[in-house]
Amino acid sequence: MLVFNTIESLQKHISELPKRTSIGFVPTMGALHKGHLSLIKKAEKQNKITVVSIFVNPTQFDNAEDLVNYPKTIEKDLKLLQSVNCSIAFIPSVKEIYNENIYSESFDFGGIENEMEGKFRKGHFNGVATIVKRLFEIVKPTKAYFGKKDFQQLQIIKKLVEIKKIPVKIKGCAIFREPDGLAMSSRNTRLTKEQREAAPFIYKILKKAKKKFGTKNADTVIEWVEKKFKKHPILDLEYFLIANEDTLQSVNKKDNNKKQRAFIAVYAGKIRLIDNLSLN
Ligand code: AMP
Repeated sequence: MLVFNTIESLQKHISELPKRTSIGFVPTMGALHKGHLSLIKKAEKQNKITVVSIFVNPTQFDNAEDLVNYPKTIEKDLKLLQSVNCSIAFIPSVKEIYNENIYSESFDFGGIENEMEGKFRKGHFNGVATIVKRLFEIVKPTKAYFGKKDFQQLQIIKKLVEIKKIPVKIKGCAIFREPDGLAMSSRNTRLTKEQREAAPFIYKILKKAKKKFGTKNADTVIEWVEKKFKKHPILDLEYFLIANEDTLQSVNKKDNNKKQRAFIAVYAGKIRLIDNLSLN
């Protein structure tokens, strides 16, 4: 595996590859887990080479404490990347990416950026889109892989590529879960033992909500979920809602002709956890 820290060295290497070499790209913030690895394996199957970036992007953090405490496990990450035969790791510094100008571009994604995560994490998606656009310009991938764990992010990236006419195919990948159902996340390592034991409740509620939405409208299901979390001693609900997958607008009635999904954000102490589940 080759490791590059500068844009110049990465681009020099890529420019020397045979023409039309397909490049799969998986952008990450490191603290890698099996969820990341599932994206990388998919990229490897579908491309000649795979580039994984590790970059904790400061402009997408709306909470300074979360940025400072974001787990960093670079040695372990490199070993994991090697274990799945990743071709290239790109690990730039903040200065390499932003120079002295650490700020986000402002994007208009037609409103999907203002729902859910956009409501609760101001500026988050401008930061995400800024870094992903920059990384696409640097790596020039054929295909790029994003997890449905961050479903709204996946939709934003698809919109970004459409609006900015970036020649890359965006691939959405299934959510990888722990055996007890908790969606894998780098932030899970920051949970206390008690919080970690409580966290699978999130997926359990999603599954029960899915069942209920078969016969009850969204308002009733939301009320039920809110009640469940009010009684929970460890987890605090930030939001639970049911929305159309494409518009991310809330829906009230089940419609099997439309893709509908439940979305949830929960705090365990200061750790924010998100998850979602298709309702079709
Ligand atoms: P992150 O390092 O958290 O920015 O995540 C990098 C990529 O991995 C994003 O596209 C995430 O959606 C994806 N990802 C993170 N956790 C999971 C998971 N449990 N299952 C599938 N994809 C994931």
